[in-house]
Amino acid sequence: MGIIMDGKKIAEGIRAKLAEEIRKIEAEKAVKPTLATIIVEGDPSSAAYVKNKEKVCIQTGLGSVTYNLPMNTKEEDLIRLIEELNIRKDIHGILVQVPLPKHINENKIASIIDYRKDVDCFNPENAGRLFRGEKCLLPCTPKGIIRLIKAYGIEISGKKAAVVGRSNIVGKPCAMMLLNNNATVTICHSKTFNLKSQLLECDIIVSAVGKPGLITADMVKEGAVVIDAGTTMVDGKLKGDVDFEKVLEKASYITPVPGGVGAMTTTMLIENVLEAFNNYE
Ligand code: NAP
Repeated sequence: MGIIMDGKKIAEGIRAKLAEEIRKIEAEKAVKPTLATIIVEGDPSSAAYVKNKEKVCIQTGLGSVTYNLPMNTKEEDLIRLIEELNIRKDIHGILVQVPLPKHINENKIASIIDYRKDVDCFNPENAGRLFRGEKCLLPCTPKGIIRLIKAYGIEISGKKAAVVGRSNIVGKPCAMMLLNNNATVTICHSKTFNLKSQLLECDIIVSAVGKPGLITADMVKEGAVVIDAGTTMVDGKLKGDVDFEKVLEKASYITPVPGGVGAMTTTMLIENVLEAFNNYE
């Protein structure tokens, strides 16, 4: 029977320290580190995400400004807003919520965000630095995953790891970060042949797909660490990718959904805004 990794508790501990740091900055410098979030209407789950992020930011004492733009926002208007935020001294982090509507080119938008304020590693400058193993603002979900693994004292170096999912925001950067921590990494995706045989070899499995029940107990090696980043609403309940109850029997450590990776993600966002603030000041 595995240990359930309490992302919520670990995140709360980190947030308490971040809140203290924010209080200190405000007292000493009379400025509030502030995040600007841009959301272009259309995706209901994004709207819920942003609302939660805003709540947690405010609880921690971070400044938070949200721009809710209509679905028919023109690409050039979004670019103009980002350019304004790039030069504003009272904004330290910029987050553009994805997915964006189809008429807006996500890659183009990512390259407009000042890399020093790019708190979710969208900009190719940050993505390139991550690829090269250089210091940069790391993407929040993979950063939260690595932090959670380390919080439980789990060694990554020398381990065989698999990441299921290869998005630019979760899967690929997570694989890079595991590699930068000296794991031997396999990246799996929808065209991977025989996912089970890939995963059965691995000491660490990270799933970031969004398909409940994809990772079953027969795919998991005895004693593996299983991190579930997937989040899908099923009948009003949040579900991960992993068949939790059965995989718990085989894994040494496992994250629940909710209460695992999600809580860490928002906390890493706050940490990144502070990091951006400190780099900038
Ligand atoms: P995404 O862009 O849709 O990527 C999903 C990935 O899963 C793709 O690379 C896809 O492969 C792969 N995939 C699909 N079916 C598969 C299968 N049967 N076997 C293996 N791989 C398969 O999603 P995302 O933005 O990375 O998000 C992934 C999940 O994480 C979602 O559930 C999302 O809600 C969740 N998420 C959670 C947090 C958090 O804080 N907890 C944050 C962000 C995202 P192809 O590339 O071949 O299509």
